[in-house]
Amino acid sequence: MSDCCVKPKPKSSQICPQCNVNCNPVTMRTLYQQIRFPENQQLVPDKYYFCPSRDCPTAYFSSTGTRIAKSLLITQQAIQNETLCYCFDISSACYQSALKTLTADAIKNFVIQRTKSSECACEIRNPSGQCCLAKFKQLEREHRLAI
Ligand SMILES: [Zn+2]
Repeated sequence: MSDCCVKPKPKSSQICPQCNVNCNPVTMRTLYQQIRFPENQQLVPDKYYFCPSRDCPTAYFSSTGTRIAKSLLITQQAIQNETLCYCFDISSACYQSALKTLTADAIKNFVIQRTKSSECACEIRNPSGQCCLAKFKQLEREHRLAI
């Protein structure tokens, strides 16, 4: 399975100042699409990183010390619900149970087909700005290890 958004993997990651996990860079486009009004009016253009940990209150931080809380994101609730695919509203729990009932392929193939037809919108729907297919693979690996 290939990842949809043909962008190369970001090389320069940063450590979250609040929870110390590795964070990948995001574009300003992602920030503008993710942050609620009126806070989106006050964004300072900078190099930002997204913290993927669900329990960390920090969503984005910049190398110059700006921090933006997850509570300011349009996807705040989806993050708490452990959304797997933000483009098509698929939760991790849904995909995990589909793996158990052997119906996961249909879901994954749907996502792959949509992304191949450029009908996904990872850069703006996903708070990480990244394609979700890598996370599908991660859940598949975890499932294989658990059986
Ligand atoms: Zn964090």
